[in-house]
Amino acid sequence: MKKQLLTLAGLCLISTASLAQKTLVHCGTLIDGIQNEAQSQVTIVVEGKKIIAVQKGFTAPTGTDKVINLKNQTVMPGLTDMHVHLEEETSKGGAIKRYQQNDADIAFDAAKYAKTTLMAGFTTVRDLGGSGVNLALRNAINRGTTIGPRVYTVGRIIATTGGHGDPSNALADKLSLEPRYLTGVVNGVDECRQAVRQRYKEGSDCIKITATGGVLSLAKSGKAPQFTEEEIRAIVETAKDYGFHVAAHAHGAEGMKRAVKAGVTTIEHGTYMDDEVIELMKKNGTYYVPTIIAGKTVGDSAKIPGYFHPLVAPKALEIGPLIQATFAKAYKAGVKIAFGTDSGVSIHGYNAYEFQYMVEAGMPAMEAIKAATMTPAIILGTQKETGSIETGKIADIIATDGNPLQDIKVMRKVSFVMKDGVVYKSL
Ligand SMILES: [Zn+2]
Repeated sequence: MKKQLLTLAGLCLISTASLAQKTLVHCGTLIDGIQNEAQSQVTIVVEGKKIIAVQKGFTAPTGTDKVINLKNQTVMPGLTDMHVHLEEETSKGGAIKRYQQNDADIAFDAAKYAKTTLMAGFTTVRDLGGSGVNLALRNAINRGTTIGPRVYTVGRIIATTGGHGDPSNALADKLSLEPRYLTGVVNGVDECRQAVRQRYKEGSDCIKITATGGVLSLAKSGKAPQFTEEEIRAIVETAKDYGFHVAAHAHGAEGMKRAVKAGVTTIEHGTYMDDEVIELMKKNGTYYVPTIIAGKTVGDSAKIPGYFHPLVAPKALEIGPLIQATFAKAYKAGVKIAFGTDSGVSIHGYNAYEFQYMVEAGMPAMEAIKAATMTPAIILGTQKETGSIETGKIADIIATDGNPLQDIKVMRKVSFVMKDGVVYKSL
């Protein structure tokens, strides 16, 4: 009797397995995110959310198997942009919007930007700061209420008084913000620790600080340091308690040095990175997220009269055009690079232009693709689930018309997007 039950149970398992629908993705060319060479004629077998096999040749379907024909495309892992702002997008005179929009207004815009980003092939993003709507957006995407990439967000930025991330900069006294908007504005180690804990309470996935001035804030200096090393160390140490990594916005070298020495995981922009910073980053294993497109975009926009506030335009003209050369120098010196655009500062959906700028500056196309696939997965701690096309990983799969190893510009022509095994864009 016992034996019979076991046999029955066994039969049940077999029949359930054969009924589960598989999707066979026939890839003309495959860049899997691991190997340095592309492969030709490969089948990715997807079941539910996962990749259950990667097979040589074009596997023929059986039973209820579905086939997706990407025989004329180059298939690769879903891309990750490590620096976006899904709540906002650049526009002439747009700085005023932050004083006019309520959270609901921001949310509708953010939902649109998120969808645009996914359709451009970015199945994961790290959102590096907004008003807190970014947290709700992440949750809505995870619930399936709205369409977008998998979001890891910092929620609100942590900055010092008058710093690049102080939302009350240039605000008239009578328009003073409610305290909840200022929980990211801190001074001294105790407040630094408190701000990290507040981010934890609000549901952030990681932490962002503004270690120096920035281009778009209504303040004079784009590069002066804005935290002490002691303060940053307090943030990094507290962040570790909650499993957070820390991203540091930085243009000036002194602020970068303090941030790298204090143990941040990524340096964003890095414009005035000098040899000492480069050596420190290599020694500490700090990643550089260049955002070349953001620099080019603000540099170009600053030439349009009235596009930026008079305090912002000169900073944009000076800092913007320098980032690509900094990237070239850092890459050549062996600094670890992760792909990031600062989209929002540039137009959402244009993220893939960054690949072109990276390749122009000396990085081989395959390395640029890895900087947007496996490297981000390592930083986010998701390398067992995302970042490559391998058996057991989540089915985040995209395809381009044309081979980016021959022409990197085709990264802008993403014609197929699958995230979590669900097709969002097809031929
Ligand atoms: Zn940014």
